[in-house]
Amino acid sequence: MIVLVINAGSSSLKYQLLNMQENKVMAGGVVERIGDTLGVVTHKKLTGAAPEKFVREEKIADHRDAMHLVADLIIDEHAGVIKNKDEINAIGHRVVQGGEDFRAATVIDADIKKSIEKNNPLAPLHNPPNLMGIDVAEALFPGIINIAVFDTEFHQTMPAKAFLYALPYEFYEKMRVRRYGFHGTSHKYVARAAAVHMDKPVDELNLITVHLGNGCSISAVEKGRCIDTSMGMTPLAGVMMGTRTGDIDPAIQRYVMENTGMGVDEMDTLFNKKSGLKGICGMNDMRDIHDAGENGNQRAKLAVDMFTYQVKKYIGAYMAALGRVDGIIFTAGIGENDDIVRAGVCADLSGLGMELDLEKNRGRISEPKALHTPESRVQIWVIPTNEELQIAQEVVDILQAQKK
Ligand code: ADP
Repeated sequence: MIVLVINAGSSSLKYQLLNMQENKVMAGGVVERIGDTLGVVTHKKLTGAAPEKFVREEKIADHRDAMHLVADLIIDEHAGVIKNKDEINAIGHRVVQGGEDFRAATVIDADIKKSIEKNNPLAPLHNPPNLMGIDVAEALFPGIINIAVFDTEFHQTMPAKAFLYALPYEFYEKMRVRRYGFHGTSHKYVARAAAVHMDKPVDELNLITVHLGNGCSISAVEKGRCIDTSMGMTPLAGVMMGTRTGDIDPAIQRYVMENTGMGVDEMDTLFNKKSGLKGICGMNDMRDIHDAGENGNQRAKLAVDMFTYQVKKYIGAYMAALGRVDGIIFTAGIGENDDIVRAGVCADLSGLGMELDLEKNRGRISEPKALHTPESRVQIWVIPTNEELQIAQEVVDILQAQKK
């Protein structure tokens, strides 16, 4: 079974073609700078002995152009991995915000598109391009089934006490103001993969999944079901991130606006693009921040201290929420690659049953690996995330259920 996974952003389109019999990526890539004077597509063919990279620069007017390029590349004589686009069995689309309407992956039809559109106000930067990707795929691959997989679906199992904000209740009733959570596909993937490596069914495990990338979120997963997560109504909430504040006192907004004359849009940019690690030390990539710290940059050291402290506090909170924790699972760019952050987060938690083996923790980790000492009551793992594989797996599950 061959599944094409599409992740359409506002000016980019990421894609992967997966052979699901073998759980293998056949090709993948990204089309960037859609709508600019010069766009670029970076395509990787992964079916040969070694990966082959193809880069093309040309004007890519819109998502339709971008998807045409992808369709051409995957059947291209040199860069391609299939002969005909009819070999694709289904297309899986990442959709960021499914609101309360979607608790699982869903076959897309006109009504489903309307329901996705209804949630656009909750994710104005993400859902419209996701929908555009769906429209273009439908036009370009007629007769092939399209399935939406939502970033929010894994978190829909949260109880009301975890997803409600302490605002007047009608804000939830009338405007659906609540915690939705994001990165759900990643949390779900690593929770399930961790269970396989911990050699226990996921519904017998309590896990804290710690996704630390450019965006960061932490989830409490009880017996395979999410019961709480750090991101909120939008991805701005939770721990501080590369450029986002994470949780701050909401009264800061008014105070800063009154003192600077900044407007609502400027505040939005401040909180989303100029804060987090970048706000503290001027850099948002952890590699640069560590380098600067080693060269004596005190702000860079402070940024790392703040970051690890905030992640640690969420782990403590979710340990309390779960009562018993079997595993802490680190994933994504920082979670997989950054031993300094992992060590900082796990430091001094032996009182809570977590003991990191500093030797096992050393360096970048690209395969699932246990990092705890034999004495540690709570297991500590790195599980590299694979959102595309999770999306493709959900697509396959739907196709197989349809056959029954
Ligand atoms: P995204 O949220 O965009 O998918 P990723 O999960 O790819 O992000 O994470 C990107 C971040 O991971 C980078 O900004 C950087 O901070 C961090 N990162 C990547 N490689 C390393 C590394 N070797 N050491 C420390 N941090 C790293």
